[in-house]
Amino acid sequence: MGIEKRFGVHPSAAAAWMARFGIGNPPGEVHAVRHVELLLHAGEVVGLVGESGCGKSTLGRIAAGIAPPSEGEIRYGGENVLTMDRAGRRAFELGVQMVFQNPFASLNPRIRVGDAIGEAPRVHGIVAKAELDDCVAGLMQRVGLDPSYRHRFPHQFSGGQRQRIVIARALGVRPKVLVCDEAVAALDVSVQAQVLNLFMDLRRDMGLAYLFISHNLAVVERIADRVLIMYLGRIVEAAPARELFIRPAHPYTRALLDEVPSLDGGSRTYVPIKGELPSPMNPPGGCAFHPRCPHAMPVCATESPQPKTVAPGHWSACHLNS
Ligand code: SF4
Repeated sequence: MGIEKRFGVHPSAAAAWMARFGIGNPPGEVHAVRHVELLLHAGEVVGLVGESGCGKSTLGRIAAGIAPPSEGEIRYGGENVLTMDRAGRRAFELGVQMVFQNPFASLNPRIRVGDAIGEAPRVHGIVAKAELDDCVAGLMQRVGLDPSYRHRFPHQFSGGQRQRIVIARALGVRPKVLVCDEAVAALDVSVQAQVLNLFMDLRRDMGLAYLFISHNLAVVERIADRVLIMYLGRIVEAAPARELFIRPAHPYTRALLDEVPSLDGGSRTYVPIKGELPSPMNPPGGCAFHPRCPHAMPVCATESPQPKTVAPGHWSACHLNS
């Protein structure tokens, strides 16, 4: 079974008052993630792409163990995380770390960056107290920061440097997987490229695997081995990255590709996807993309398309692929 995630939606005060008198809709539920199966191999980079509100951040938080799924299993090293013993659970919690979009919000402004980076290795007993200074210096060097800046506070760094601090802090617990949620979205284009290079250096040197969540296919194209395209809580297409960018099979993927801005600042044709992302509280029936799809047929409004293999390692959920 795949991962499911539902959220209860609390009604506003006005809606709650109206509900007491039987007016308006009953309180709803958001089905944020639907039947998602996600496999991440050691050392692999998987890009997870979709528009804002499609459920990709929720899926990332579930993968990182920050949010529990409503149904389905998270397995780490082949074992179900929920039934692991204490040692296994600790290995999962340290082994999968998350890097968020806003590094300033991830750092305590009153804690010196050296202390922030050294906290987790100290608390978890990963390094002895006598070796902590060397450990922090090594982590800062590893991410391209001068260790002599360790006594500074987060506000004394640029946005790119702050993201490097967050990455150094994550590396302190010797993870095997980084879940990066829009981790370069807040950075200037040139700084984005530098941080992406850092991610790839870490992968090469430490064998890290990444679940790289982004709304930007240009960013994912640079680093992913495999790409998953998400729409309204479902994965609608999955393929090796090169294959997906050359031969996208799903109309939604093709629409996203029409929007790709280039990382070097040049511009490509910009064709916005027609219409708004529907509310996940009230998703369209059949194929959820049908109200916006230029190829929609009558069957698309009534029948949900099942995933079909279109090439080795490449599948798409669209009636056109039947
Ligand atoms: Fe478009 Fe129909 Fe394919 Fe959905 S199933 S993407 S509506 S053609």
